Amino acid sequence: MTDQQNTAEIWRLADAKSPAFFELSDRVWAVPELNYQEERSAAEHAAMLEKEGFRVEKGVAGIPTALIGESGEDGPVIAILGEYDALPGLSQEAGVAEQRPIMLGGNGHGCGHNMLGSASLLAATAVKDWLAAKGIKGRVRYYGCPAEEGGSSKGFMVRSGLFDDVDVAICWHPSSFTGVSKAISLACVEVEFTFRGRASHAAASPHLGRSALDAVELMNIGVNYMREHMPSDARVHYAIIDAGGIAPNVVQAQATVRHLIRARTLSEMWDLVRRVKAIADGAALMTETSVVAQQLSGDANLVGNRPLEEAMHANLIRLGGPGFDAADRAFAAEFQKTFSKEDIRASYGRFGLSVREGESLSDDIYPLDYVAALSVGSTDVGTVSWVVPTVQCRVACYAVGTPGHSWQLVAQGLAPAAHKGLSLAAKAMAGVAVDVLSQPALLKAAKADFAAFRAENPFQNPITDDIEPPLDMAAH
Ligand SMILES: [Zn+2]
Repeated sequence: MTDQQNTAEIWRLADAKSPAFFELSDRVWAVPELNYQEERSAAEHAAMLEKEGFRVEKGVAGIPTALIGESGEDGPVIAILGEYDALPGLSQEAGVAEQRPIMLGGNGHGCGHNMLGSASLLAATAVKDWLAAKGIKGRVRYYGCPAEEGGSSKGFMVRSGLFDDVDVAICWHPSSFTGVSKAISLACVEVEFTFRGRASHAAASPHLGRSALDAVELMNIGVNYMREHMPSDARVHYAIIDAGGIAPNVVQAQATVRHLIRARTLSEMWDLVRRVKAIADGAALMTETSVVAQQLSGDANLVGNRPLEEAMHANLIRLGGPGFDAADRAFAAEFQKTFSKEDIRASYGRFGLSVREGESLSDDIYPLDYVAALSVGSTDVGTVSWVVPTVQCRVACYAVGTPGHSWQLVAQGLAPAAHKGLSLAAKAMAGVAVDVLSQPALLKAAKADFAAFRAENPFQNPITDDIEPPLDMAAH
C-alpha cells in the first residue's frame, strides 16, 4: 500500500533510525527485569534518549526506573508511552519452537515489552526529528513507564502530575493482529491482607494459638462464595504470599494473601474492594486474629477517544500491514505447532475476525468497529486515559494464536517479524502525533470527545494519596 498523504516524511524519519531501535529492543529482551527492578532496561532507554538529544529526567514520581525524555518547544504536548518490564518464570531461548529456558526459573519478556518500549521511543524520536525539520511549535515526550505487570507505575505518574500539561497520549502493544485497541480493559486493584495471630505449639498447646493461616483460608472461602454474587465481568484472583512458615507443628502467627480485584468500572471495583475487606474482617473475627489491608496498586478501565482512534486507524491503513515474508511465515508456523487449535481459533474472535486456517502471521488491519468479546485484562494505560485523550493500537509481531505471557512469545521476541511489527507500531504512533501537531481541528475534536466523557464520569485515581509505589513487590 502506498502512502498518498503529506505525513510520509515522518515515516522516512522513523525508518532512518529503526535499526538502532531494533538493537535496543533486543538488548532489553536480553536483560529481562521484573516490576520496579528494571535498572538496566531503564538505563538503556535513558542512554538512547540522551544520545538522541532529548532533555531527560530520571527517577520521576519517586520511582527509580521511571523516566521522561522531552524535545521541542511550546505548542501541544504529545506523550508517547513505553514499557520495559518482564515476567517471572518465562526464561526462554530465542528462535526455538520448544521450551528451553536460558535460566531455570528466570525471567523473560513474555508480554513483548522490549518491543513496546523501543517502538515508543522510536516514535518519539521520529516526531522530535520532524518537529526540528519543520520548525513547528510542539513538544514530544517519551514516558518510560516501569512495572506495567501489576505495578501501576502510570497511575503513580498521573498522581505526581506528570500528565497535567499533556494534550494527547499515544501507546501500543505487541499482538498477533494489527488495528486500533478497543477501550475494553477492566479497572483493577491489588490489595494485600496480612493476618496476625498467636504462635503456639500445635500439639502441646493448640488452644493458646490463633492461626493467621486459618484466617487466610477462611477469607479465601468467603471470597469464593462472593464470586457467585458479583457482576459477571468482575474477577477476583489471589496468591498466598506468606503461608506462615514451613512448620506444621507451629501455629502460624502471621500470613499474607494478595487479592487482585477487577471490574468493568471504577465504582464497581471499589464496591467489590469493600466487600472483600468485609470478608477479611469476618475471617479475622472467626479466628481471633487481626488483619491489615494494604493497597499495592490500581488501574482504571480504559477510556476510548473516537477522533484519535480514527486517526490511528487511518495511519495504519495508509501504512499497510507489517509486511511479513515467506521466511517470517515459516518461522511462525513452527510455533503454531506448539499451540492448541483452540488458542489459534479463539485469537481471531477477540478481534471480530473469522478464522483463517493455515495463516501463521496476520498482515491485515482489522476493522475499526469490530465486535469482540470483552477483554478481561487490565492495563495502567487506563488511568492515563481518564486524564488525557489517549489512543492505542496493537501490532502483529508474532504468530497467530501465541498465548500472552508464554515462553512462545518470549522465543519470538528477537525475530525479524518482531522488528517489522515494532517498526509499523512506531510509524503508526508517530503518524498520529504528527496529525495532532499539524491539524488543530483533530486536537480540538479529541479534547471535545474527552471533555464530553469526563463531564458524565467523575474520576478518582485508583492510586489513592496514601499509597507508595510498591518498589519491592517483585522481591516476594
Ligand atoms: Zn503487556
